[in-house]
Amino acid sequence: MILKAAWVVPVTTPPVRHGYVEVEGDRIVALGPIDQRSLPPPAVADLGDVVLVPGLVNPHTHLELGCYAGRLDPAPLWVWLEHLVRLRGKPGRAQRERQAASDGAWQSLQAGVTCVGDISRENVAWRPLKNVPIRKVCFVELLTLAGQPPRDPDELRSAVAAVEEDPLLTVGISPHAPYTVPAPYIQAALSLACELGRPWCTHWAESSEEVAFLREGPKRLPFFLRVLLWRHGITSPRLPPMEFLDRCCEGAKPGALAHVNYIDDRELERLAAAGHTVVYCPRAHHFFGHPPHPLPRLRRAGVPVTLGTDSLASNESLSVLDEAHHVYTRVPDPPSPHELLRMVTLDGAWALGLADQIGSLEVGKQADLAAFPGAPDERDPVAALIARPAPPSAVWVAGQRVT
Ligand SMILES: [Zn+2]
Repeated sequence: MILKAAWVVPVTTPPVRHGYVEVEGDRIVALGPIDQRSLPPPAVADLGDVVLVPGLVNPHTHLELGCYAGRLDPAPLWVWLEHLVRLRGKPGRAQRERQAASDGAWQSLQAGVTCVGDISRENVAWRPLKNVPIRKVCFVELLTLAGQPPRDPDELRSAVAAVEEDPLLTVGISPHAPYTVPAPYIQAALSLACELGRPWCTHWAESSEEVAFLREGPKRLPFFLRVLLWRHGITSPRLPPMEFLDRCCEGAKPGALAHVNYIDDRELERLAAAGHTVVYCPRAHHFFGHPPHPLPRLRRAGVPVTLGTDSLASNESLSVLDEAHHVYTRVPDPPSPHELLRMVTLDGAWALGLADQIGSLEVGKQADLAAFPGAPDERDPVAALIARPAPPSAVWVAGQRVT
């Protein structure tokens, strides 16, 4: 199959006007300018005025929460969390959240997102997601404060073992956050990821109350959480967040840190040296009313940053292109459109441990592609894509057209 497009944007090399991508089976076997190749016309699918880019990657979402879309108003994190817990407690939860996971995967594909890093609280999302032709890292969440497993390292290990991987499904490990999982369990979770050679992610430095808890103690956390911490014996390490993370990570590989909304300059260097990728969720960040994200400082310090959507319970869509547009138009000192495209493709793939397979158009990589509207006379097709996001006209995963 040879796909011809007004623009081919490999991400790792400059955009090609009037380009092609040749796919054999699930892989890219050639690409370049169309005039440098003699092509028998029937072998070519002319996609017309489109910009062909690598399938977008959303490294941080909770698809199962999509059934609560529009049910929760913008609010500080803790107020939102209490409401969410109440909504999730209503009868029929497993069925509606499984359906939401599947619906969210299809919505992602329709937005050109061909790979998601999805976190499931009770490890229920991987089954419905297995039936959707999207690439996914299904993160099994460890949450010690929860009523249901996995709550400790043994329960985590058996939940991870239950996930049936396939060429599109990789299992991942996600200790929820430093205020919901005790340090030895975080260490055990990251060691398990290392032992299995699978990616890990966690929520880190998301709120100022969390940072205060890690540094000093729980007094700024909401009452319901303080009670739970006391019951489960989770105490403050009395360390800055990144120093605490370094201790939890001993012997483990770098992973993905969702949010990092709060970090001081001294901790930036430590984070850069540790090699973790930060997943900034711009519209969720706005929804929760945090002060400006340290994105410019993170980038200056050399910390890799990618963009995620978080869940539909705190966002309007599952499109990382919409996130890039939000950053480009609403955040001071934004990265360039080309950098933003890289953040929602290759850098997202890196955060999920899949950068050798997806995230750019290169010979030998998986043929995960998305075709967005774009005319050949566009001066900069990437700038146009980020400035005016539109739904893709076609999407492929592993060489198969899926929308
Ligand atoms: Zn999250």
